[in-house]
Amino acid sequence: MDKLLKKDLKFIWHPYTQMKDCREMPPILIKRAEGIKLFDTKGNFYYDTISSWWCNVHGHNHPKIKEAIKKQIDSLEHVLFAGFTHKPAIRLAEGLVSLAPVGLTKVFFSDNGSTAVEVALKMSFQYWHNKGERKKTKFISLDYGYHGDTLGAMSVSGVNLFNEVFTPLFFSSYKVPSPYCYRCPMGKTKEACSMDCIKPLEKLLREKSEKISAIIIEPMLLGAGGMIVYPGEYLKGVSALAKRFNVHLIADEVATGFGRTGKMFACEHAGIKPDFICLSKGLTSGYLPLAATLATDKTHKAFYADYEKRKTFYHGHTYTANPISCSAALASLEVFQKERTLEKIQEVAPLLHNGLEKFRCLPSVGDVRYIGLIGAIELVKNKKTKQAFGIRERIGLEVYKKGLKKNLVLRPLGSIVYLFLPLCIKKNELKDVLNKAYVVIKSLSD
Ligand SMILES: *Cc1c(COP(=O)(O)O)cnc(C)c1O
Repeated sequence: MDKLLKKDLKFIWHPYTQMKDCREMPPILIKRAEGIKLFDTKGNFYYDTISSWWCNVHGHNHPKIKEAIKKQIDSLEHVLFAGFTHKPAIRLAEGLVSLAPVGLTKVFFSDNGSTAVEVALKMSFQYWHNKGERKKTKFISLDYGYHGDTLGAMSVSGVNLFNEVFTPLFFSSYKVPSPYCYRCPMGKTKEACSMDCIKPLEKLLREKSEKISAIIIEPMLLGAGGMIVYPGEYLKGVSALAKRFNVHLIADEVATGFGRTGKMFACEHAGIKPDFICLSKGLTSGYLPLAATLATDKTHKAFYADYEKRKTFYHGHTYTANPISCSAALASLEVFQKERTLEKIQEVAPLLHNGLEKFRCLPSVGDVRYIGLIGAIELVKNKKTKQAFGIRERIGLEVYKKGLKKNLVLRPLGSIVYLFLPLCIKKNELKDVLNKAYVVIKSLSD
């Protein structure tokens, strides 16, 4: 084994990794990256089909983003963000407000998706506290929702293989069924669907709304819960219920933000105006860690008071609004304009969708779903009964290994194989990715 890799295994504990597996299958040593390709030290390349965990937007080694980072580092690398401020943060906040759904006018910076969610939860909670509505302390989330790995974020996520061991540590929250059409929680077929899956939420709000602070939801796509794409009607319904029952709506766009779903923000598919929006993964196009929670004027006003009234939002992180990160994010927003990224993906997305439809007839494919430049294939043991694969079968690992042999980074969520493509992908690259992925999926049943 390579000397460096030996040291990796000696000193590093990798995330979401059973380190025992690493002895047989050590991590791949990446030396450089360009566009949507990763190059390892042995000269192999891999298509970064999952955008390096859903964050890379405009491709690796982008000259404009690199230039912005280099330029910023020459003047100011970091400064504390309480009592001090700087141009990159101010310009970025202005830019985010101009792009976000109307009404979201205040930007609170943090470092990653989980903290962006924690900030929204705490702001919502304290809003009601500051307003004297001290009973509104609970949150509602979806069964297959995912909002991060910190304790608060896990408390409002669905329980699964990743977090079940920590359940005794969670604060209690209400869970409602997810609009998972392929495995309809109401047992309905597509034809008979009248969006009954929203009714448990309505019932819960009718009974408990005076205790509820907020509903948290990933708009249009439940990401880590299984790349579940759901109808905009459901999102509209949730938004209307939140308004009707006087609870906040937190839109967690950490994964869906920045063009992934074909619109700048997934909320736009349903035309909703949430009370909070959480952003992170694509914010700097995957160059540096940064996150933002956007809130409304109304929320902000509930914290704005004489100091001794104890209404201040006491939350912050050391690297809040790091100037280099903010500069990378600003450059990314400029690239969206200059390269007309959103217009371009309107042409590419249908190719992805049509290409994926061809996977449907394969014996191990139960469902195919997609939105924008995200696509997912749910593998099943039995197509008729929709029987899922068990954890021991490690179907995901098989796909991962087969993918690598075909220059693809496929890192399935259990038995859900997905593509989360960088927005800069070219048509010929997409064709190649789809052809290779088809061979991989087909080989599972050969
Ligand atoms: C990834 C993700 C998070 C957590 O972001 P981190 O940066 O990994 O902490 C939160 N919400 C959603 C929807 C995500 O996909």
